[in-house]
Amino acid sequence: QKAEWAKLVNEPTVSKDGHHVELAANIGTPKDLKGVVENGGEAVGLYRTEFLYMGRNELPSEEEQFDSYKAVLEGMGGKPVVVRTLDIGGDKELPYLNLPKEMNPFLGFRAIRLCLEEQDIFRTQLRALLRASTYGNLKIMFPMISNLQEFRDAKSILLEEKAKLSESGVDTAEHIEVGIMVEIPSTAVMADLFAKEVDFFSIGTNDLIQYTMAADRMNERVSYLYQPYNPAILRLVKMVIDAAHKEGKWAGMCGEMAGDEIAIPILLGLGLDEFSMSATSILKARSQISRLNKSDVEKLSEEVLQLRTNEEVIEAVKKVIEL
Ligand code: PEP
Ligand code: MG
Repeated sequence: QKAEWAKLVNEPTVSKDGHHVELAANIGTPKDLKGVVENGGEAVGLYRTEFLYMGRNELPSEEEQFDSYKAVLEGMGGKPVVVRTLDIGGDKELPYLNLPKEMNPFLGFRAIRLCLEEQDIFRTQLRALLRASTYGNLKIMFPMISNLQEFRDAKSILLEEKAKLSESGVDTAEHIEVGIMVEIPSTAVMADLFAKEVDFFSIGTNDLIQYTMAADRMNERVSYLYQPYNPAILRLVKMVIDAAHKEGKWAGMCGEMAGDEIAIPILLGLGLDEFSMSATSILKARSQISRLNKSDVEKLSEEVLQLRTNEEVIEAVKKVIEL
């Protein structure tokens, strides 16, 4: 099986009946690029930049960030790189920011909420990204967006920094796509309106499942409620994909679900454009997709949206595909 997968390293990702999708990788540092290239990643779909800020005593400088972003963009040789701006808080703490302890960190002052308030931190990161943008195909993504105002505020700060840079004679890429993570149910529900303003969506199922099912993703006691195939989740995913396509935008997924063999047929059927996963899952996913007909999984995905439970969906998928 491994030998069969290895043949697919430099191949595109195509279903049996000729439908193309993009298989991208989630990375945390420039060191992860080796694995992306070895496993035939067509893009970086999620660069989690918070690791630059963690395990140290102070914020990373603009130069230090610039070096990392440039290394990733160059390492991908012009292939798309979706960089997520700082997503700190929840399970990821930064002791040196001295933020007060919160009763519900996953519902608290984190990610874009923190960046819009601590603008020095945010603007430094955006400048580093903008300066690195000329070295490859950069796309910028904001995490934990819960309403349109947050996206508009974040984007206007980005445009301000871009204007300041060009005034001082610093080059930035002509066009940089700006998108959001859809990981909060309010944003999935409003996806039709977001789609008019963003360039792309990437569905963050790790958090979307936690917030939709009201089940802490770190809490073993409620892990039985963490149900990726619950039709409630699948319906939200469909809303996001359909909303993107209606406005001519693309929709990806960068939560764990994107690399899951039960989820892949459903997501392919729903029309997901980009699947971003750990690099080691890419070749297996490419092989699985090459054995699926888009037309078959479209029917399957329509059916599972009408089922009642997580378990019913798993049964239905297993019946249709040989895993
Ligand atoms: C997600 O929430 O699905 C996601 C990809 O982000 P993280 O796991 O970093 O919260
Ligand atoms: Mg998340």
